[in-house]
Amino acid sequence: MEKIVNRGLTQRITVLPHEVASKIAAGEVIERPSSIVKELLENAIDAGATDVAVDLRGGGKEAIRIADNGSGISPQEVAVAFERHATSKILTVADLYGVRSFGFRGEALPSIAAVSRVEMATRRRDDVEGTRIVVENGAVLENEAVGCPEGTTIAVSRIFGSLPVRRKFLRQDATEQGHCLDIIVRVLLPHGRVRARVTAGERTLLEVPRTETLRDRIVLLLGSDLRNHLIPVEAGAPGMRLWGFVSRPDFTRSSTRSLFFYVNGRYVRDALLSQAVMNAYRNLLEARKYPACAVFLEMPPETIDVNVHPAKLEVRFRRPQDVRELIRQGLVEALSGVRPAAGSPPASGMARWQVAPGRFGTAEALLRYSLSAGIAAHRPSPSVRPLEDVPDFGTEPEELFTQGASPRRPIAFSSLEYLGQVEATYLVFAAPGTMILIDQHAAHERILYESLRAPRGGRPEAQSLLIPEIMELSPGDFQLLAASRDLLLEAGVEVEPFGENTAVVKSVPALLADTDVRALVREILDGISDSGIPQDEKRNRILIRMACRGAVKARQVLAVDEVRRMCRDLDSIPFASNCPHGRPVFVEFPATTIERMFKRA
Ligand code: ADP
Ligand code: MG
Repeated sequence: MEKIVNRGLTQRITVLPHEVASKIAAGEVIERPSSIVKELLENAIDAGATDVAVDLRGGGKEAIRIADNGSGISPQEVAVAFERHATSKILTVADLYGVRSFGFRGEALPSIAAVSRVEMATRRRDDVEGTRIVVENGAVLENEAVGCPEGTTIAVSRIFGSLPVRRKFLRQDATEQGHCLDIIVRVLLPHGRVRARVTAGERTLLEVPRTETLRDRIVLLLGSDLRNHLIPVEAGAPGMRLWGFVSRPDFTRSSTRSLFFYVNGRYVRDALLSQAVMNAYRNLLEARKYPACAVFLEMPPETIDVNVHPAKLEVRFRRPQDVRELIRQGLVEALSGVRPAAGSPPASGMARWQVAPGRFGTAEALLRYSLSAGIAAHRPSPSVRPLEDVPDFGTEPEELFTQGASPRRPIAFSSLEYLGQVEATYLVFAAPGTMILIDQHAAHERILYESLRAPRGGRPEAQSLLIPEIMELSPGDFQLLAASRDLLLEAGVEVEPFGENTAVVKSVPALLADTDVRALVREILDGISDSGIPQDEKRNRILIRMACRGAVKARQVLAVDEVRRMCRDLDSIPFASNCPHGRPVFVEFPATTIERMFKRA
């Protein structure tokens, strides 16, 4: 037995040769070409660059070249920069918890150089001469003075040349290129002052101009279809701040790829943040639809650990519950007030995409790093700075972007001019600069849902039935009904057993007094029959089913005063943009769209 276990092992503990150890470490930071792109781009931004050119060959597998106009590196420091844990950004462990720059571990350059050939030319503005250095597989091959432009140019080739296995795991060029573009977009988004050009040889893949406002930057990088669907979010809690933009519920994507999060300026992927955002959109989006957002969180650096992930893509919050609550607060406020908007926004410059955005590789693949404890173990005691301090991070949004005026002005439903009903289903309205259609069923559904959900007394007002409804049920439904009595009572539906497999319905919510009670109860039972549904979701589903049953249907002629009342009701409730199934309550036709339809624009 022992023989088998030991076969092939040296039986002695040995310290790995430097070359092997550094390759293992490098593998954690550099998983694929896009990891290299991310590190180099972040270095350029850390160095204050305002112009960056990225060239990718073979999707970044053959070669990556990044040129910046940043600070450059002094001749004495060039070689040092390639040594492990060489960084100009922190000096002490305490600094580690106050980092504002992207880099700080001093690992990127040595890691990249450990698995490829790196050629760097760099010159500081006031230096007469620059420096050219070549490092391959961790060894400095050349280090000499040269003439070169101000800033830093790094060319990386023979990527994973000495790690054929790792190389084999790389995907097709198009996929790797997609990963690279994806990370470039994520890193560039908050930096409106940075202009970038991404090429693949002769081909331009992406051109990002400078932008004044965050809104412009988001539209530029996430797609112009978002332009009219962004709402600002802003929320604060002691020591924390949230700001940015989220998409209105009338805009959806079919993946979570358009969720962008930044913590203290650093792009992160974080399940907690995504979940908190998705929660805020609950009952506003259809199934398997996702919003877009660029959400920035600012908090004292010592309340987060950015050092839990080799590529710093994940963070650990000291108070996750506070972060969740902040997001909930900010998004609920933004989303609950969505209304039709007057006028139409001015157009502005767009990034020129030369690849279909759909071709982007999923960023998920970037995340297959395992967590590494690293120096996180040396975390200082949390008493470094009281949380109550209003954080001063030096990267206030105003500094990154001028505040862009919101291009659209929301208008109350009741101030819309009612023009008439189409197909006895859609209500047509006019307002300055726009035409609006409302789906009468969806609108009424949301009104009822909100009214049932948040009545003043805690539960919806119930109305006793003059003639209680006796229902014969299947044994299964009878059981379910008996087991759900309390839930139903909370929702204003009073039922009691009435002999074998028979129940009597004694009251329903007053708002639903005119509905078919049997149909209502059957529908509710359908909605909660799956035993795996948590209680809270059952409660929600009961309300949704009730709202759906009670709402005016399509193909129902409405009198003008009924339409007026509906508009007033819509004004009085939150989340009036979508029915509780996530379908839109209203659709807008801005005048510019109509003009285009008539070929006037
Ligand atoms: P880190 O970014 O974590 O400090 P890196 O290995 O990425 O570590 O870089 C090491 C050092 O090299 C940086 O701290 C910085 O001083 C310098 N450096 C790297 N890239 C650039 C660049 N593009 N422009 C100026 N300095 C750079
Ligand atoms: Mg770095």
